Amino acid sequence: MNEPLHIVGGGMAGSEAAWQAANMGVDVVIHEMRPNIKTFAHRTGDLAEMVCSNSFRSDDDEQNAVGLLHWEMRAAGGLIMEMADRHRLPAGGALAVDREPFARAVTERLVSHPKITVQADEITKIPESGQWIFATGPLTSEGLGQAIARETGSDALAFFDAIAPIVHFDSIDMSRAWMQSRYDKGDSEAERTAYLNCPMDKDTYEAFIDALIAADKTEFHDGEDAPYFDGCLPIEVMAERGRETLRHGPMKPVGLTNPHQPEIKPHAVVQLRRDNALGTLYNIVGFQTKMKYGPQASVFRMIPGLEDARFARLGGIHRNTFLNSPTLLDDRLRLRARPNIRFAGQITGVEGYVESAAMGLVAGRLAAAGMLGRTLPPVPQDSAMGALIHHITGGADAKTFQPMNVNFGLFRPVDGLKGGRRGRRDRYKAYTDRAKAAWQGWLEHVRHGAELAV
Ligand SMILES: Cc1cc2nc3c(=O)[nH]c(=O)nc-3n(C[C@H](O)[C@H](O)[C@H](O)COP(=O)(O)OP(=O)(O)OC[C@H]3O[C@@H](n4cnc5c(N)ncnc54)[C@H](O)[C@@H]3O)c2cc1C
Repeated sequence: MNEPLHIVGGGMAGSEAAWQAANMGVDVVIHEMRPNIKTFAHRTGDLAEMVCSNSFRSDDDEQNAVGLLHWEMRAAGGLIMEMADRHRLPAGGALAVDREPFARAVTERLVSHPKITVQADEITKIPESGQWIFATGPLTSEGLGQAIARETGSDALAFFDAIAPIVHFDSIDMSRAWMQSRYDKGDSEAERTAYLNCPMDKDTYEAFIDALIAADKTEFHDGEDAPYFDGCLPIEVMAERGRETLRHGPMKPVGLTNPHQPEIKPHAVVQLRRDNALGTLYNIVGFQTKMKYGPQASVFRMIPGLEDARFARLGGIHRNTFLNSPTLLDDRLRLRARPNIRFAGQITGVEGYVESAAMGLVAGRLAAAGMLGRTLPPVPQDSAMGALIHHITGGADAKTFQPMNVNFGLFRPVDGLKGGRRGRRDRYKAYTDRAKAAWQGWLEHVRHGAELAV
């Protein structure tokens, strides 16, 4: 095995992938375009630069899905977690990171690794041969973005996300909401009841429009200018265009009968659509938004049935290059049509520093195992890593696919546990216990193979 593994992009995912593959005994070349070619968000030439907040979010590995992902990465000897721990700042239960020393430390570790070479170059083609991981992130350079679009089909690559909020099903009050597709359309019972509907009377609707218009909005970063396409206007922009616009758009009350009050015709209806095969998550249809997170949650909790909603993720609109992974990638993060090409990090449709590094970890290990002549079993779906991979490569609906944070809504239910708010602590502990055992089991396979390879 003389050929190296090529990793394009030395961000969160590429750095972790390189570390994992090199430690399994594979030669690695990282191709990172910075500092020669800049992005609007990165400021340095360091690898693993944190472009905005300095938080890795919750570090609670028993009650929080992102904390569980921290645990899984630590168990796998992850470089990003080791350096984050070393450069940790006080932040209560969250893992905040001193960003500059963190990125410098990651860079030094990688540059000084005997099996890793870092080259400052931009890759603009999808190579025909060799083993490659593309981890070029939300700000993938234009040339490469075009090459990926040519390879995958332009419909399969997005340059912006327009995320509608996603709600945990078990936090929706079904004594107010009901399941029904408009005009009962569909050939099967499942299709005729595919949408979850929340009715609004006139007063609630008027108050909702006022709140939407008044809520604080986020601005685009310098250089991030996003063209709004009429198909995915932020909901508050629609409301500003006219108080009735939403009632004639995503909130139109037609073709629906509220079984809880069949004699009253709703003034408006908010619809939610199933977001994953498990049926644990629902997105609010047409509600992409640039409202800030705090006001956004309060405004959406004004919707009847969503008063106690827990959000798996809130809405947003950002510059973000990402693949339609459910149609393009297999469960080993390989391009189905070109298995020598893998993707990792945010470009696969995960969201966040931690999730991106996690996908890098898995991609690095899978690529290295393949190059060492070994086939690893799929990453177990019950681990946080596996739940994310399963979501982006198959569990999510390809037609509405948008980037996703790790959250417990992606996990298979644990039999015999209570649903709803009251059972939450026990449920989350059961998820995290099960995930840790599954992940340890998978790591054993990799460890065994790595020993054989030396
Ligand atoms: C403006 C902005 C703010 C964000 N804020 C946050 C936040 O606060 N918290 C959070 O968790 N996440 C945030 N994100 C998301 C964040 O970018 C990801 O979570 C994480 O950095 C993604 O990791 P990655 O490795 O996939 O991509 P990156 O970390 O972006 O790494 C990709 C690397 O690829 C390089 N590259 C791109 N194209 C090429 C090419 N053709 N050839 C060679 N190299 C190339 C880039 O220079 C970059 O170093 C933000 C994203 C943006 C754009």
